[in-house]
Amino acid sequence: MNKPTLEQLAALRADLGDLQIIDDASQVTRLSRDFSWFSPVLTPLLEPYKADFVVRPKTEDEIVRIVAACAKHKVPITPRGAGSGNYGQCTPLFGGVILDLSQYNQLVWHKGDVARMQVGMRLLDIDRATQPNGWELRCVPSTFRIATVGGLYGGGFGGIGSINYGPLASTGNVLGVKAITVEPEPKLVELRAPEALLLHHVYGTSGIVLEMELALAPAHAWRECVIVGDGIENMLRLGDEIANSPGLMKKSVTFFEDRVQPYLPTLHDRWRTGKSALFVVYTENASSALNELAIKHGADITYDEPHNEQVKKGKTILEYTWNHTTLHALKVDKTITYIQSGFPAGQHIEHALKMKQLLGDECLLHLEFIRLKEGQMTFSGLQLIKYTNAERLNEIMQIHRDNGVYIANPHVYHVEDGKQGQINPDIVMTKMRFDPMGLVNPGKLRGWDVRDQIVADVKAGKVNVSTLPKF
Ligand SMILES: Cc1cc2nc3c(=O)[nH]c(=O)nc-3n(C[C@H](O)[C@H](O)[C@H](O)COP(=O)(O)OP(=O)(O)OC[C@H]3O[C@@H](n4cnc5c(N)ncnc54)[C@H](O)[C@@H]3O)c2cc1C
Repeated sequence: MNKPTLEQLAALRADLGDLQIIDDASQVTRLSRDFSWFSPVLTPLLEPYKADFVVRPKTEDEIVRIVAACAKHKVPITPRGAGSGNYGQCTPLFGGVILDLSQYNQLVWHKGDVARMQVGMRLLDIDRATQPNGWELRCVPSTFRIATVGGLYGGGFGGIGSINYGPLASTGNVLGVKAITVEPEPKLVELRAPEALLLHHVYGTSGIVLEMELALAPAHAWRECVIVGDGIENMLRLGDEIANSPGLMKKSVTFFEDRVQPYLPTLHDRWRTGKSALFVVYTENASSALNELAIKHGADITYDEPHNEQVKKGKTILEYTWNHTTLHALKVDKTITYIQSGFPAGQHIEHALKMKQLLGDECLLHLEFIRLKEGQMTFSGLQLIKYTNAERLNEIMQIHRDNGVYIANPHVYHVEDGKQGQINPDIVMTKMRFDPMGLVNPGKLRGWDVRDQIVADVKAGKVNVSTLPKF
């Protein structure tokens, strides 16, 4: 893949002249970035890259025109929602066009426990549209206020609510998606589950999604509280009891060891120095159950408020959980970074204590309780790391792997180097079907470089895939 020439770009612009095009240099640079600056490794690597211009469509017809024109002129196209991804996911490595989908943001329909929406709709706006009818999204990132549903699908994993419904990829969460093929004459294709997950968490590299159909969760009168107490193990076990109690309905349980407290100074009225803490979002009727469990562990509830009111005021504790913890910590200490980890269910507490013992204050425990796709309770870690250099950061991640803790490296920008872990022939076949010219967000899917071998293996029956392009 080469960067487009000035002639290619001029021809493309001539075809798109009447659409909203952004080419102000500082805006194009801003829209070519996400939150990869959380990573001291990624920041210098991605710094040189940006788009040539940005297009911001409002309708499906406009998107079809843009995609057709990019294919006709062979110009790379990178989809973008709100740009809150963490790994340079929407940073174009070969220039071209950023397809900013934030204005393509209408609710298509909502019927009972299912809703369908355009991909640029913000997650908070989806909740606002469906909550009055008693339903809400099953899992959202802590960036729910700004992030789009297409960005969650293309670059995210899950988050708040995953304690009940698992990550977004759990069977039953995503019911269908409408995708567009990147060709001079684009086709609109409806994929139903399980195929609907083929374009999930591949940073848009395998195709562009236009609409999503999601199963919803019952909306409750949520409350949010902070529980503080002594001892990492004691508080981990309290969190585990809350997370696993089937009669205690919750939306989120977050554990922080006491050493994280100095990094969240705006919460010091709710969280005393020297205590570990749990941040819990739970239903009103679970107040006494929560109190009973806290007393059992010698812990105190130091803050307790109606959740939706705190969201409206911009003060919810959820915007301190998941990767928001890293964001707040970076405001206190610019040398902080983070890792992403997954603990073996059933052994998660023991493994967390082992890592604490091995790494001490170099790796501060921030753990989010989550149900795995398969149903077991465990935690997903976003531990805070005092960064010294890339070599030590890699050693810390390797120490986790060596001790049975899974690492989804957040300091890399290739799909396979992160959560995916390896080349997935299904993803490459999906890209061949939806992006045969390799124009969508190029340079981030290692499997694309070995597609000929994968095709040969598929044709020879050596590899099974669930989707087949026309060979
Ligand atoms: C402070 C902070 C906290 C976070 N917490 C969480 C968390 O709790 N859980 C979590 O999963 N993530 C989290 N994230 C990452 C990110 O915010 C979420 O994944 C979010 O859902 C991304 O949405 P977005 O609209 O910003 O996507 P963008 O960053 O705009 O896009 C993400 C990726 O998806 C692709 N994409 C966008 N739209 C489409 C489309 N229509 N079709 C195909 N591909 C598309 C883009 O090309 C890009 O590769 C966090 C990030 C930050 C900075």
